[in-house]
Amino acid sequence: MRNVIILGSGCAGNTAAIYTARAGLKPLLLMGHEPGGQLSLTTDVENFPGFPEGINGPDLVENMKKQAEKFGAECEWGTVSEADLSGKHFRVKVEGEWIHTRTLIIATGASARWLGLPNEHKLIGHGVSSCATCDGAFYKERKIMVIGGGDSAMEEANFLTRFGSEVTLVHRRDQFRASKIMLDRARANPKIKFMTNTVVENVYDVSKNLVTGVRLRNTKSNEAWDQEVDGFFLAIGHIPNTKVFKGQIETDAEGYIISKGGARTNITGVFHAGDVQDRTYRQAITASGAGCMAAIEAERFLEAEGH
Ligand SMILES: Cc1cc2nc3c(=O)[nH]c(=O)nc-3n(C[C@H](O)[C@H](O)[C@H](O)COP(=O)(O)OP(=O)(O)OC[C@H]3O[C@@H](n4cnc5c(N)ncnc54)[C@H](O)[C@@H]3O)c2cc1C
Repeated sequence: MRNVIILGSGCAGNTAAIYTARAGLKPLLLMGHEPGGQLSLTTDVENFPGFPEGINGPDLVENMKKQAEKFGAECEWGTVSEADLSGKHFRVKVEGEWIHTRTLIIATGASARWLGLPNEHKLIGHGVSSCATCDGAFYKERKIMVIGGGDSAMEEANFLTRFGSEVTLVHRRDQFRASKIMLDRARANPKIKFMTNTVVENVYDVSKNLVTGVRLRNTKSNEAWDQEVDGFFLAIGHIPNTKVFKGQIETDAEGYIISKGGARTNITGVFHAGDVQDRTYRQAITASGAGCMAAIEAERFLEAEGH
């Protein structure tokens, strides 16, 4: 029987591991399918406090892991495929084996949706991004393209006009899911150029390890062409990793955990941390803060239970 199991090895999970380990709770952290979480996909992180020169994303999260291990956290490979949260204690199934715990911290994140273009993943962190707040500042006076038709695409496009010389918003249809107010705001921004009925077929140039352009196609005329671009931002949504808790942990329609205050979920003893609950901020620092909150709640819960 574990005191604490933490699911996820991003900023939220690792921070929860640092705190619970320092509290002497010997947490077990299960790293999941993406060790290091979303920061393992990126290169420079310039907005995490404490690093005036910036830090490489994978290094930042690896440092957090080392810090947690130094205090006794066990970080293991493994993805939870099933969870049973019905009893006083909880069970999670990892690689076919059930592990039991008194508290559970869910820090499984929300994965960005990608287009699935042949070169897309090879260029993440080198011009391809899913986070304007994180990476916009790297594209001062550069050509930026944003993909999407919802509110987040409008918000990201507007935000990116602070940096880019031009921002092209590409959408596969001519109708937008975005609310009227967000759409009107984007339309009124002279730096945003709308390109509708257009799909992206690929992004270049892997040989330069840098985004230099994209291949586009008009879905009505079938005409295809290449366009130069420096920053390629996906704003087509995120998928919270909560499938294994379906029917047990309360989520909203999209699958984000609904907070019951602090880091609490609808199940006493099960806590949330990071992007799996946060559809608004989605930053390394906010995920770390949430990991700290979940850890403190777990400690207090265990103490009240006499552990
Ligand atoms: C390309 C990119 C660049 C970014 N740049 C920045 C930046 O510069 N600054 C910034 O502040 N933020 C940045 N972000 C955002 C930041 O990475 C996220 O906000 C942060 O990683 C969220 O942390 P998290 O721990 O909540 O989730 P994640 O980092 O998503 O981690 C989730 C973890 O859960 C694990 N997991 C999932 N399912 C299971 C399961 N069933 N069982 C066990 N484990 C599971 C995964 O393996 C993963 O380790 C960037 C994001 C991306 C994609």
